[in-house]
Amino acid sequence: MDATGTDGLSRTDAVERDCLFCRIARREVHADVLFEDDRVLAFRDINPQAPVHVLVIPKRHIGSLADLTGSDEDLMGHTFVVASSLASELGVTDGFRVVGNCGEKAGQSVFHIHIHLLGGRRFGWPPG
Ligand code: 5GP
Ligand code: ZN
Repeated sequence: MDATGTDGLSRTDAVERDCLFCRIARREVHADVLFEDDRVLAFRDINPQAPVHVLVIPKRHIGSLADLTGSDEDLMGHTFVVASSLASELGVTDGFRVVGNCGEKAGQSVFHIHIHLLGGRRFGWPPG
């Protein structure tokens, strides 16, 4: 149990209460949801960078890829399998990209772990 703030919530509880993707997972904030099970949610990115641009998140709050531990292996494996299934369902298996931005310097703007599934156009390399 971590420190309790003046609002009576632990710091972890306060992060999860305010986190945008936790709020989407709790359906407090609307999103165009394409897949959901007990562990994972997938929804369309609000600012798509390709014809197909889906975010796949574990429902459990993890801040970023840098915060993963061995106990997350099954969950993250499942997250990638869901991304693969969606690529198939959305018809982009001829070429798609899965991206995980980790840290502000790499372009992470929402600090709840997520992978971007991008498809429906040609992608360049190296990424910007
Ligand atoms: P990041 O920059 O952290 O790798 O990716 C965060 C993504 O979340 C961005 O592509 C951004 O467009 C998307 N995003 C930010 N706010 C919302 C929102 O309220 N709803 C949805 N569906 N996507 C969002
Ligand atoms: Zn969260």
